[in-house]
Amino acid sequence: LMGLNTRRGTIVAAFGRHYDIRLDDGRIVTGFPKGKKSPYACGDRVEVEPDADGRGQIVRHVPRTTLLYRSDQYRQKLIAANATQLIFVVATEPGFSDELLSRAIVAAEHEHMNVLIVLNKCDLSSGLAAARAMLAPYAALGYEVIEMSAKSNADALRPRLKGHASVLVGQSGMGKSTLINALIPDAMAATREISTALDSGKHTTTYGRLYRTPEGDAIIDCPGVQEFGLAHLSFGEIENAFREFRQFLDQCRFRDCHHAAEPGCAIKNGVAQGTVSARRIELFLRIAAHCRQ
Ligand code: GDP
Ligand code: ZN
Repeated sequence: LMGLNTRRGTIVAAFGRHYDIRLDDGRIVTGFPKGKKSPYACGDRVEVEPDADGRGQIVRHVPRTTLLYRSDQYRQKLIAANATQLIFVVATEPGFSDELLSRAIVAAEHEHMNVLIVLNKCDLSSGLAAARAMLAPYAALGYEVIEMSAKSNADALRPRLKGHASVLVGQSGMGKSTLINALIPDAMAATREISTALDSGKHTTTYGRLYRTPEGDAIIDCPGVQEFGLAHLSFGEIENAFREFRQFLDQCRFRDCHHAAEPGCAIKNGVAQGTVSARRIELFLRIAAHCRQ
């Protein structure tokens, strides 16, 4: 049962020690967590007791459906909560890390989120072939790759946002801000409008922001994601998050096969036969080396 002054809302901006919360009646208030921890992320649903100035303590956390971690080392650093779709933005140039891409996909697969890969800056022909080659193993696995240009036609992404709460991540320089600003006409204004309760505005570092498209779909922008925390996953969970491994998992000679140097490994066998990408098993071994014990 909620108290008389208790309101439910969604975290739309995370600043570390405080949060902007869009109440279900549309008002934006500033919420503070109990205690010293900052356990929330953009997209989290919470209950807050705002005072007349629009500030209040967060009194309850509604259980999440999904959660993405920002870091292996700092488990309290979060990317987004309750997102249903991961949109991973890469570009024809500069180069991007397929290790970060695979890590992001592992996190999303574990949370049963939809994965969409955006290959941006396709108006630039240099780098296009190399980027396509890098993404080919992912397309072959059934991950959808959208080739587009945020500069000339960001609207190509719009239909893919429908019905989803999407979280947009990518290394810097890939065109993520360009994409957000094109999809959310008032993104800049929203950034200024939020946080008036603390008068912190754009001078405060944000760890994430939730926008709504004109169609009403949520987009979470999480700046500066250079890492994806996977240390909460066990070896078996990481295995299962490599979707092409699933069919082989009960076929290795040893039941506890680590798919490294063991004889009779079905996944290594798959590499030899060309059904599993050698690069993907290399990335798997790197990721699984730091799994939850
Ligand atoms: P972010 O760091 O991912 O937010 O990247 P930005 O949105 O700041 O873009 C980085 C640079 O790439 C900027 O100079 C943009 O103008 C440029 N850029 C973004 N999208 C495109 C695109 O579709 N085509 C081209 N040619 N340049 C783009
Ligand atoms: Zn094996």
